[in-house]
Amino acid sequence: MAERTVPEVDRAAAARRAVERRQARASLKRDLSMRVVTPQTVAAQAFADADSVAGSMRITDFLLALPAIGVGKRDRILLDLDISPVKRLGGLGVRQRASLTHWLDERFPVSEPRAGRSRLLVLAGPTAVGKGTVAAHIRENHPEIHLSVSATTRAPRPGEIDGVHYFFVDDAEFDRLIADGELLEHAVVHNRSRYGTPRAPIDAALSEGKTVLLEIDLQGARQVRAAEPSATLIFLLPPSWDELVQRLVGRGTENEEERTRRLRTAKVELAAQGEFDYRIVNEDVAAAAREVVELSKAPAR
Ligand code: 5GP
Repeated sequence: MAERTVPEVDRAAAARRAVERRQARASLKRDLSMRVVTPQTVAAQAFADADSVAGSMRITDFLLALPAIGVGKRDRILLDLDISPVKRLGGLGVRQRASLTHWLDERFPVSEPRAGRSRLLVLAGPTAVGKGTVAAHIRENHPEIHLSVSATTRAPRPGEIDGVHYFFVDDAEFDRLIADGELLEHAVVHNRSRYGTPRAPIDAALSEGKTVLLEIDLQGARQVRAAEPSATLIFLLPPSWDELVQRLVGRGTENEEERTRRLRTAKVELAAQGEFDYRIVNEDVAAAAREVVELSKAPAR
């Protein structure tokens, strides 16, 4: 039989594809460990298409990428689920898929939107995910939604207008707002400035039947939930962890040390997404804004 030699170009292309795939798998593993995607989503992708990036991931790597699963725990889980460590996610049998799905649902419960939500919407998410840009898009395109204007002790950036983007106040005035109970929530953000949501304009807009949107940080979102349990909490996710890092670097507004600190915060923030009613992926600003607006239209149950 004549020996068939693979042309040089094909071999180079195949090698390139293999590298790309390995990179894509590594990126997906980061998404899993940073909780940018749920394990259930990755499993579903793998089961739907064994040739997908998710499908080609080894079960051992998949489990290790999950938060708080080490090697020992991983091996016990594989034994319990009766899955061989050499398997790839897309190559699991029907019974193995069912038992893995069941285990994931128990271990990583996906929260269901709660009943009785109000027209008070809170948009939060990790640093650099683009909350501000999505909120600005809504401000410009959806005047029917009242966007809360926060008070802050930080200095205005070029182009920022007092009363439009923020109420710029000094520490003494911020103290007074807190003392007089004028803030629905307040927090120190990024260890630096203080930010707070004035209560009166929100009450007024809600009583006029308007939808109100707060774009605030995680601590603020938790305080709003405590004060107004019927508020709808929306968590904005990046398309991937790598993309979040890119956005933070690309923004160029922070130095290396500050970026590292913010990425550490982002990891902690991502871990809190289970506390939220809805998750929206900010792949495209206009599309994410549309999803937020759609949620505001969903009838309160
Ligand atoms: P920036 O200074 O870049 O405009 O905002 C920094 C961070 O402060 C953002 O994460 C934003 O969500 C948060 N933030 C803005 N206003 C408020 C607020 O009223 N309360 C809280 N808790 N966070 C806020």
